[in-house]
This record gives sequence, C-alpha cells and structure tokens, in this order.
Amino acid sequence: DEPLLSVTKFEELNLDPNLLKGIYEMGFTTPSKIQAKALPLLIKSPPQNMIGQSQSGTGKTAAFVLTMLSRIDFNLKAPQALCLAPSRELARQIMAEVKKMAKYTSVTTAEAIRDSNANSRMEKNRGDAFKEAQLIVGTPGTVYDLIKRRYLDQRHMKIFVLDEADNMLDQQGLGDQSIKIKKHIVLFSATYKEPVRAFAGRFAPNANEFSLKVEELSVKGIKQFYMDCKDEEHKLTVLNELYSLMTIGQSIIFVEKRISADKIAKCMTDIGHKVINLHGGLSTTERDEVMDGFRKGNAKVLIATNVLARGIDVLQVNLVINFDIPIKRNMKGGNEPDYETYLHRIGRTGRFGREGVAINLVSDETSWKILKEIAHFYEREIEKIDINDGWDNV
Ligand code: ADP
Ligand code: MG
Repeated sequence: DEPLLSVTKFEELNLDPNLLKGIYEMGFTTPSKIQAKALPLLIKSPPQNMIGQSQSGTGKTAAFVLTMLSRIDFNLKAPQALCLAPSRELARQIMAEVKKMAKYTSVTTAEAIRDSNANSRMEKNRGDAFKEAQLIVGTPGTVYDLIKRRYLDQRHMKIFVLDEADNMLDQQGLGDQSIKIKKHIVLFSATYKEPVRAFAGRFAPNANEFSLKVEELSVKGIKQFYMDCKDEEHKLTVLNELYSLMTIGQSIIFVEKRISADKIAKCMTDIGHKVINLHGGLSTTERDEVMDGFRKGNAKVLIATNVLARGIDVLQVNLVINFDIPIKRNMKGGNEPDYETYLHRIGRTGRFGREGVAINLVSDETSWKILKEIAHFYEREIEKIDINDGWDNV
C-alpha cells in the first residue's frame, strides 16, 4: 500500500471553491492519502481533535492549512486559527503555504516569530497586527510572549494546530507552559515516540488517531548509505571528495553542533565549494537570508544543525548527509540513537514521491553501533559505499 496519492479528488472534500482555486494553482491535482483521510474528519462539525501521522513529505501541511482556512470566519477580524512549529524556518515555510492556498480568500495573517532587530515601538506595532490577524503561524516562545503582553486575543480562537507535534510536546515546552486553547486541537507529525504519544492523547482528548507502524515510517524513495571514515578529520576529506565527484542537485549536511557547522563551512569554502550554513547562533536576519538563498538555489550545499531537521521542504534536495549520526544522551549518561531525528533529517529529501539519497559518515565505534541500531529499528538496510568504488550504485 503506497503512502502517497489517494483515489479521492479535491472536489469531493467539501472545500471552499476559493481554496480549490488556490491549491490547483499550486499544481496540486490529487490529494495525498493523509489529506484525503484527514480533511473530511477535520472540517466536519462538530470539530473533533486529531492526532495524525504520516511519512515525511506526504503533504501534512496542506491537510492542516486547509482545515484552518476552512474554519475561519473571514468577516470576523480576530485571531481564529493558531499553528505552532518548532523553528522559525518551518513557521515561515508554513506561512508561505498558507498564502498560496489562501490566495483567493480575504484571510488576514501574521507570523509570530522572533525579530532580533525590533525595538519596543516596532514591537508595539507588531503587537497590533496580531489583533486583526485571523490566522497566525509562529514558534512557541514568541507566541507565549504575545499572550503575556496581551497582544493575542484568544477569545475567538477555533483551532490550534501543532506541526511536528511530538517535538512540540516533548522539547518545546508545550506540555507544561501550555497555551490554554482548549478548542479544536490538531496534531501532526511523522513520528510519535512513547511516552510522547500517550501525552499527545491527553493533550488532544478523544482524538481521531492515525498511526503508522515503525517499519512503514521510512520513505521508500530514500536510499540509505554509510561511509567508513578513519576519524573526524578524514570525514572532512571524504566530504570534499564526495562533492568533487558527484553531481548533486541541492543537499543538506547535518551536524550535531554549531561549531562543526562553522568548521565544515570553512573547510569546504577553502577548497572552492559554495556552501552556506544555518544554526541557532545566527541572527534572525541572517537565518532568513540563508534559508531564502537556499530556496532560490543560490547555494547548492546547506550545512545545518538539528534546527532544520524537521519539516523543511525544499523539493530540489536530493542528498542528505549525516556528518554526525544523531545521538542523544540517555538517563544513565550514555549515548543512544536519536531515531526520530534520524528519520526527520533524511526526510528532507525524497519529498512527495521523489527519490533521494542519505549518506552517513561513520568514524568511531559509537556512531557505528548507533547507526546499526537505527537500521535495525526501522527495518531498513543501510549499505556501505566506498569512495574508490565509483558512484554507479548511488
Ligand atoms: P509533510 O509535512 O508531510 O512532510 P509537506 O506538507 O511539506 O509534507 O509536503 C511535501 C511536498 O509535497 C510539498 O512540496 C508540498 O507542496 C507537496 N504537496 C503536498 N500535497 C500535494 C498534493 N496533493 N499534490 C502535489 N504536491 C503536494
Ligand atoms: Mg511537515
């Protein structure tokens, strides 16, 4: 059973004709399975909470964006739909999708993301924009801040969406600080590890739940490989050779630490590769410039920390490199595989049925052990490739 296209048509989903016009103009012809399954349940009344899960790149965004737009009363100039995402890059991407889908509606929107250059007067003006915005997409910190300053009126709120819901509930403090919107709660993610899944069930009570088995999670179109490297330095050599040998569309290199991102960027730039680099140490303006530049194709290689592991959709990305294998600390202070992050990272390629390649660089016992556990967990083979064997098999 393929996860992608549904036999249903968009016309059968009871969407506003103006929304249909928007999605057709985006080039969507047929709903994906998750869209066809979730939309009818989401837009019927009375609203029912949802905990939705489908593989990366299968169109979850349109499912919740069309739902938010269907719920909004366009004549009422007050916040009615709120969507939170774990990074500013993802929030901006979702807003860009909203604007395309809502092109033929009169919806008013606002982005609730940090602006590190804003002074207090600008903040006040920005605050005012949120009073009239019907649909808001943002990151948790900024949204808490807006609520605290009473810039965000919650009285007319109808729907509350968490994209990358497991991460939002687990890492982004949504669990305890809790924005008190007890309306229609919609959660979407490709992964829900325990015990976050159980918590999601309490956060969105009596929800419609769609879940996948672990082995269904990794996208078939993504081929996974690993390369043996002698040590950290050798990883850099291998990386440079790789980029000299392969003709690649666009690619993302993931690292665990900011400092490695800077180091790799310098090393690759020194030998003439054009790379850009994005992590939480940059200013918001820099982050936006890097991301917009990458989307325009100004640079082929983007080096990033886990801030970009989730949700980012750049269709031209056909290669993801894990310069470091995603590892997390367990309670006993040891290392264990970060299964979710691995899947989300490689899911930046192979979007909506496209093909992609993921290459893991392995230089020490720990990463090797961790990678084996990841392959075992997802029941997928991660094949060895050797730089001297040529690249015919990739
Ligand atoms: P997910 O959130 O499930 O990982 P996205 O919502 O980011 O996936 O969608 C992945 C890509 O597929 C995006 O580029 C999106 O525009 C495209 N897409 C989504 N739905 C459709 C559709 N019905 N037809 C064609 N393309 C689609
Ligand atoms: Mg997504």
